[in-house]
Amino acid sequence: MGYKVSFEEANKIFAALQDEYEIWAPKRFVGKGRYSDTDMIKYDKINTVEEIEYMDKSDFPAKEVLSPITESLFYFTEDEYIESKATGKKLLIFMRPCDIHAQHHQEKIYLSNGGFEDMYYKRMNEKVKIVMMECTTGWDTCFCVSMGTNKSEDYSMAVRFGEGELSLDVKDGAFAPYFEGKNESGFKPEYVEKNQLTVEVPEIPNKEVLTKLKNHPMWNEYNKRCISCGACTVACSTCTCFTTTDIIYNENANVGERKRTTASCQVKGFSDMAGGMSFRNTAGDRMRFKVLHKFHDYKERFQDYHMCVGCGRCIDRCPEYISIAATVKKMANAIDEIVAEENK
Ligand code: SF4
Ligand code: SF4
Repeated sequence: MGYKVSFEEANKIFAALQDEYEIWAPKRFVGKGRYSDTDMIKYDKINTVEEIEYMDKSDFPAKEVLSPITESLFYFTEDEYIESKATGKKLLIFMRPCDIHAQHHQEKIYLSNGGFEDMYYKRMNEKVKIVMMECTTGWDTCFCVSMGTNKSEDYSMAVRFGEGELSLDVKDGAFAPYFEGKNESGFKPEYVEKNQLTVEVPEIPNKEVLTKLKNHPMWNEYNKRCISCGACTVACSTCTCFTTTDIIYNENANVGERKRTTASCQVKGFSDMAGGMSFRNTAGDRMRFKVLHKFHDYKERFQDYHMCVGCGRCIDRCPEYISIAATVKKMANAIDEIVAEENK
């Protein structure tokens, strides 16, 4: 059922929803951007519709609500440990279509990878209801249409932000009582149909080509350009890697807490192992790993979609102006070159 409500009416609905839900949405933090006089847009709890930043793309994705950059897993003493507590409320999260697709990828990694369920992710994921933010134009670094993530029907409510009013498509009956007596409308969300940026993901025809691609000189370019800062993966809608650290509270080393923190395959030392072994020693090696993971390995493993949802946040965040879209194009050229060489 479609509705049209003023911001004032929406804020009353938000207030009523907050008995049961935490409401999360992209929010602008003025002056907190990485350069002087720039803002940062990231997910935060909101109380009113005016707090939602819907005009610009958020710098960081919706995944941060479910898997924050850092979180406590459990607290320990000499002889016991206590699990950290999750929020007692349900989570109502405003997301764009690409973030909804990204959440499905996260579910695969956290909940069905090798038969293992991550209980910390699961306990948050079970609470989620989605409000899809209509996205009809995208930005210059988006390539969601190429990745098939520009549309989604998987939402409880969809919303369009107008001048002082919201148009909503309410599909989930749990939310219908909040809209009783409100103006009805025939609203249905529209979607981006064309991005400025397009990416054609190449097929890797066989293992021989894949092996040659891994050793192709194209990756050497990144030894100079990529500074291995990891900013691209922290901002990525679909990256899930983390590391754990024990924080010791005082001189008694048996009392403290275990935290998990986002990790990056782009940072030197990520693949270090006991005995001093390391698999990916150069920035080029690490770039190859990331790009193949997003545009080949994940799909090969789960047999459905590529992992990248085309949100373009990694392109926006990279201080070295490295574009994953351009890298995929270079990879396609390298594959063509390898296949042509094989067919000679
Ligand atoms: S690789 Fe880049 S474009 Fe793809 S999902 Fe991650 S941040 Fe978005
Ligand atoms: S690609 Fe860019 S953002 Fe990612 S690690 Fe390299 S320099 Fe940092």
